[in-house]
Amino acid sequence: MDRRKFLTAATVSTGAVLTGCNESNRQAIDYSKHPKKSVDTKTVNINRNKKTVIKLATSWPAHFPIMGTGVEEFAKRVKEVSGGSLEIKIYPKNTLVPALAVFDATSSGEIDAFHSGPYYWKGKNSAFSLYSGMPFGMTAEEINSWMQFGGGMELWREQYGKYNLHPFLGGNTNIQMGGWFRKPINSLKDMQGLKMRIPGLGGEVFSKMGVNPILLPAGEIYTSLERGVIDATEWVGPALDIKMGFYKVAPYYYSGWHEPGSILELTFNKHSFSKLALEHQSIIEVCTREMNANMTSKFHYENIYALQKLKELDVTLRQLPKDVTDAGKKALNEVIGELCSENKDFTEVYKSVDKHLSLSKEWSDASLGYFLNER
Ligand code: CA
Repeated sequence: MDRRKFLTAATVSTGAVLTGCNESNRQAIDYSKHPKKSVDTKTVNINRNKKTVIKLATSWPAHFPIMGTGVEEFAKRVKEVSGGSLEIKIYPKNTLVPALAVFDATSSGEIDAFHSGPYYWKGKNSAFSLYSGMPFGMTAEEINSWMQFGGGMELWREQYGKYNLHPFLGGNTNIQMGGWFRKPINSLKDMQGLKMRIPGLGGEVFSKMGVNPILLPAGEIYTSLERGVIDATEWVGPALDIKMGFYKVAPYYYSGWHEPGSILELTFNKHSFSKLALEHQSIIEVCTREMNANMTSKFHYENIYALQKLKELDVTLRQLPKDVTDAGKKALNEVIGELCSENKDFTEVYKSVDKHLSLSKEWSDASLGYFLNER
């Protein structure tokens, strides 16, 4: 398929024929309720003789590219901006709590904060996966505008609040690649029975298309692919994929639509955050915004150069056939319908996402969509 057709197909609406989330269930969002805050300077009260230390655990190894180093940069900036009165002490994965126990450890107050991704907490509440994004969903720019101005952050904080948590945007991978396949995909038939490492909502969509989604720890993906235990894997994008070496064992690299703009989170224990001096709270807000912007740009920048390296290694970029993409859209509607029927929290978030996405698509298609096709 040529690029123009692919882009057009990939931006067609996912449709609103959803059993649990139909149009009539939609409620108008009051966009006038943007987050507002006024600072009472009398309550700003930092004791500069006493350093405040925040314990923050991550789901990444120490110095992990972009995500790990981005959090380290955040901690450095917090220290600088606060004149050394606020220190973020980072505990990389498994040094204080296991990688996927950071949500519970922060919720209980064992630690003050974590850096991770909301899709990991789908088992706690399926609604949380939507904060990371969804197949055929919002781009990084669209999700930022939904979060900051379209009601997303209020919903997220309300739902995480029930777990004693207070989230901030903590980066965005930008659009992810569809993944690495051992054999080419020429039609939907080639997806049937395929064993693929693909988590989250993307995994559920692929499952409805006949793929067998497999969950594997990061350290086991390469050998599983090499030995044929799995036939394909998605990961992130060129910058992180090249370091995993997948191109050596699965040479077919596909563009994707399953994670168009996955966000990362910097989430605080609510009590830990509220007891900070107001000035420290503002420093956290400003520095998380900086981290969110920096990490998003860094992913884009690193992907540019990693793609060139992959091309030098004779990796060919491919696009999924139209029948696969069409089946993906149909499967997404089924998955969304089922999750809405099961979980009213999911329905609430989906309605907000759907409202923003429907409107945003018109603008994005008319502006960026047109431009990218013409450029
Ligand atoms: Ca991924």
